[in-house]
Amino acid sequence: MASLTLSHVGKLYDDGTRAVADLSIAIEDGELLVLVGPSGCGKTTALRMVAGLETITEGEIRIGERVVNNVAPRDRDVAMVFQSYALYPHLSVRENIAFGLKLRKTPKEELNRRVDEAARMLGLSEHLDRKPRNLSGGQRQRVAMGRAVVRQPQAFLMDEPLSNLDAKLRVQMRAEIGRLQRDLKVTTIYVTHDQTEAMTLGDRVAVMKTGVLQQIAPPQELYDRPTNLFVAGFIGSPAMNFLGARLRQTDDGGWHLELGTHRLDVPADVMAARPGLAAYRDAEVIVGIRPEDVEDAAVVGRGDGRSLPAVADLVEPLGADVIAYLTVDVPRPSGHEHLAELARDAGDSPLMPEGTTSMLVARLSPRSAVGGATGGGYRIVVTVDTERLHFFDPESGSAIWEG
Ligand code: ATP
Repeated sequence: MASLTLSHVGKLYDDGTRAVADLSIAIEDGELLVLVGPSGCGKTTALRMVAGLETITEGEIRIGERVVNNVAPRDRDVAMVFQSYALYPHLSVRENIAFGLKLRKTPKEELNRRVDEAARMLGLSEHLDRKPRNLSGGQRQRVAMGRAVVRQPQAFLMDEPLSNLDAKLRVQMRAEIGRLQRDLKVTTIYVTHDQTEAMTLGDRVAVMKTGVLQQIAPPQELYDRPTNLFVAGFIGSPAMNFLGARLRQTDDGGWHLELGTHRLDVPADVMAARPGLAAYRDAEVIVGIRPEDVEDAAVVGRGDGRSLPAVADLVEPLGADVIAYLTVDVPRPSGHEHLAELARDAGDSPLMPEGTTSMLVARLSPRSAVGGATGGGYRIVVTVDTERLHFFDPESGSAIWEG
């Protein structure tokens, strides 16, 4: 096992497509790093460069201390697991798992021992003589994993390995991959576009957008301290809400946000935690509010400087909570490129005109009466947990923290 280091790695395809730019990531020995981002952000290209399946235009990749830029894929000692399992249909499970070892002329006894051990780890012992077509999707994915595990490589490289499985199986296999990786402690890069997969699996998560690394951090830090609008909007489901606002200070020194004709107070400790905010006095900011930080005022109480009137357009009662799609008469923030990219990824039109109303998605308590409302147009007052507001610069899209 080994660390994996990418230093200023870039990829320019022959047709001029810039797929990856100046990517630097140091993955520790035994770490599971998830590379996540919307389709086309360059994550597969990055993984294929580590595997040696794609040449590198700029930079350096090291596996352990060894620079592998010009090392052939088979000599890199990494094992890939793809979304398509790429199993040999005419070979049994045992033969499929053993294939790589056989090519390397591993002695028979050792080969059998390693295959049996991998099969046991993956719960495949009873299926070793079956052909792939007689296996379920989850079992096939396990065979593909088995093929990687049995080689005892320096690193696993996984490219959306679960995307062919149905939702329930995906959750189960996700947990299995996590457990296996922790047991084996093999350095792993795991590529996915699914932010839930990223959050639940990764020791750290690297978020990419249009070939550029946006932030790399442990999952909770990514969630609590997103570095910019893109990461804030990409991580979390339902996604963070963004509203246009102006920051004001009153004569008594208190701070608040002007959202159209509404007001949200900014608590003193939020100002203290973000010393950079004070410089935005009287200026525009983009305010981020997570859905779970919005509650029905009828449940938690209405607060002066914490509540907004809203109209519920659509309500999804999920049992444990209610997802409400609300309209508030607060201006939509200006069309920052991060927001356009997020809209594209969500399948919305990125050209949605700036307007005088915004959508606010809320994760409400099931005790909220809105859960029983049928049809749109239900009027509600929501209370925002202002201690948990996020702030972004409307020009750069960066989170506002330091001065
Ligand atoms: P997805 O999740 O859709 O696979 P991704 O994040 O893995 O996306 P890549 O497949 O790495 O993204 O692609 C990054 C960019 O490079 C995209 O714009 C893509 O169209 C482009 N690209 C990928 N392969 C090639 C190629 N062989 N030649 C030219 N451009 C390519």
